[in-house]
Parts: sequence; C-alpha cells; structure tokens
Amino acid sequence: MEKPKADLFITGASEVVTCAATHGDPLGRVAHGCVAVAGERIMVVGSAAEVSSRLDLSAARVVDAHGGLVAPGFVDGHTHLVFGGSRSIEYAAKMTRTAAQVAAMGIPAGIPATVSMTREAHPERLFAESADRLNRMFASGSTTIESKSGYGLSWSDELKQLETTRRLSQSCPADIVSTFLGAHDFPKDIPRDRYVDLLVNEMIPRAAGMRLAEFCDVYCDEGYYTLDQTRRVLEAGLSHGLRPKIHADAYSATGVADLAVDLGAVSMDHLNYTTPAEMRRLAQAGVVGVGLPALDFAVNHPKPFDARAVLDSGMTLALATNLNPGNWTETMHFVMVLACRRHRLSPEEAMLAATVGGAKALNRFPDIGCLQTGGLADIQIWDIPVFEEFVYRLDRNPIVGLIKRGKVIRAPLP
Ligand SMILES: [Zn+2]
Repeated sequence: MEKPKADLFITGASEVVTCAATHGDPLGRVAHGCVAVAGERIMVVGSAAEVSSRLDLSAARVVDAHGGLVAPGFVDGHTHLVFGGSRSIEYAAKMTRTAAQVAAMGIPAGIPATVSMTREAHPERLFAESADRLNRMFASGSTTIESKSGYGLSWSDELKQLETTRRLSQSCPADIVSTFLGAHDFPKDIPRDRYVDLLVNEMIPRAAGMRLAEFCDVYCDEGYYTLDQTRRVLEAGLSHGLRPKIHADAYSATGVADLAVDLGAVSMDHLNYTTPAEMRRLAQAGVVGVGLPALDFAVNHPKPFDARAVLDSGMTLALATNLNPGNWTETMHFVMVLACRRHRLSPEEAMLAATVGGAKALNRFPDIGCLQTGGLADIQIWDIPVFEEFVYRLDRNPIVGLIKRGKVIRAPLP
C-alpha cells in the first residue's frame, strides 16, 4: 500500500511541546519528536521512525530545528490591535502620579483619548501602524490574533476599524479573528441609552450583515455598561449570529458572570473581581476565563486576577496580551513571563493558557492551539534546548522558525 505523501517534515528538535495532553503529561512533550505536514494540516507528530514508517517523506521539504524546541503557535485571544496614536505621555505621567492628578494636568487619557486619535487617523495610517504591530506579533509567535473594534463609537468610525481589521487579515499570514466592541465606552455627544439603541438597532446588524465580526463584546464595569445594557447588546449580537464575549469585573464586582452563563458567552475576560463561586458556575457553563497579566502590570492593578482561583474552579484559562494603548504589549512571551511570576502559574500552565486556552477563547479548538493529527500546522521553533528556558529568559524571545498553515515563513538558520 502506498504511504501518504508529506509536504513538510520538521525534524532535529530537542523536543516537541504538542500541548495535546497525554496520560500524565498535560503538555504532551515528545522528546526528539518530528512533525509531518500536508498542505495546511498536520499529518503525524511522533518519533522520526514512527513518521517515516507511516508517511512518504521523499518529496517533503525538510526543516531542521537544530536542537531547538517545536511548539504550537500562540493564540492571542484578546487584543485591541487597531488604534490611532499613542498614550505614552499619560503612561509616563502615571508612573509618579495618580489618575486624578494626571487628569488635573489636562493630559488626554484613557479610552476617550484613543477614540479621538483613532477617529482622526487617516485610514492608511491606521492600517500601516496596525500592520506594524501585527507583523511584530506574528513574528513573535502569535499565529492567530483576535482584534476588537471599540475606538470608534460611531458607525462610520467603528466601520473604519473593522475594515482595517479585514485588510490586516489579508496582509499578514496570521489568522485574524474580528470582534465587534462598539460597547467599549459611550460617545460623549449622545445620551447613553440612545447609544445602546444605536448599537442594538443599527451597528450590530450592519457589522454582522457585512460579516465584519464573529464575536460581540461589551465592557461591563462600574462607570461603563450596566448589566441591563450588557444584556441588550449581547442579545442583539446573538440574534445576528455574533457570539458573546465580556470585558468583566476588571475594576469592580459586577455580577455579570451569571449573565455570561445565561447567554452562553464564549469567554469572560479580566476577572479581577470575579468570585470563586462565580468562577465555578462559569466553569460548568464552559465559559473560558481570559487573564490579562500585562494589563494588570501596566496599570499596577490593586487586585491582579487570581489565576490559581480560575484554574481551581475548573475554568479553562487563556492568556492574552490585551494589546491596547494603555497596555502596549505585543508578545505572548512577556505575558507568559508575567503570568508565571506574578500570577503563580507554572510554565506548563502558562503555555497551555497561551495556546489551548486562547484557541478555546476563540472557539477554534482543536483546530489550533495544539500539535496533533488533523490540526492546522501553525508551528513555532525556539532556539532553546528545554521548555522551561522560555519563561526563565525574561526578555529574550527565542523564535527562530515559524510555520503558518503549513507554509514556512521562517526556517531556523543552520
Ligand atoms: Zn480589552
């Protein structure tokens, strides 16, 4: 019988960290493992002998990991990738001053400052600056990246962001997942309930009708969207086929967890004030918890999210950069370093949260997030000999190889 032909054969790894749990090993590490790929998908992960006994490798391109480590691409499931300008002046001022002191100095701050800069940005500049960020994220191993709107807060400005996201997905090999977050804040020029009416009756139907988004998100917190407003927006999303995500409990206990359960939210993100009892209900409902260590770090959060409580509750934990102008992080490496030291995750737990967790937060598991037969061949190669070195070297991104949907974007040098 003829053996199936592979197009790509990744060999020479010290180990393959599959992130596909095997008995007794949540990371599914395969010492000296190889990966064979046909087209966009993985055929076999296993020893060289196993792969060559099952597949015809005669026509396969060989990528040698040169003793490095092979892992699935990161899935960054919470970002605000498309925005105009920078808030470096605000960030610098807040190093030594309170938010109230910075406001008294007249420095534009927070989401409203970015809404102004995003509205003013020429579409070409918005695209170019966002593409720069996206390309750096991809080069640092994020092969699937979520992108939220929410710095427009009017239909025309939200549309500019959503169309930029669509253009970005065509410009970069990374897969981009679009989320409509018109309910990120309220515009200053119309009453709040009138804006919720606009979201529900006009903006969400248009965004969904133009297939510009897959998820609908709301910033539910004190001073932002109330529980009732959150429900209205997410139900409108659901009725147009957009599955719910929630920015939840970042700065206050909102009680939105029960709404997340009720509406079948895909993820609840931030979780700083979410209680263990709420987490258990979220876990039972299959809602993924998305932790954002870089945000907690950047704002010096008084109550960083409790990653151990999330895991103890039985929730799936995802880690994401939450890239935005108040928390300018592009690399999952930095997020994992923070998650381990400041949120008490083991390196294994952080790795799973950055891959499998992210894939579940975007409803794409097991297509992405792990290396296994039939999954997409989204693969990174690190020039480190053991997995633990990834979070040990605090500021060194070790990526030397990148494969996206079976296409070799970058091969390790000999
Ligand atoms: Zn966010």
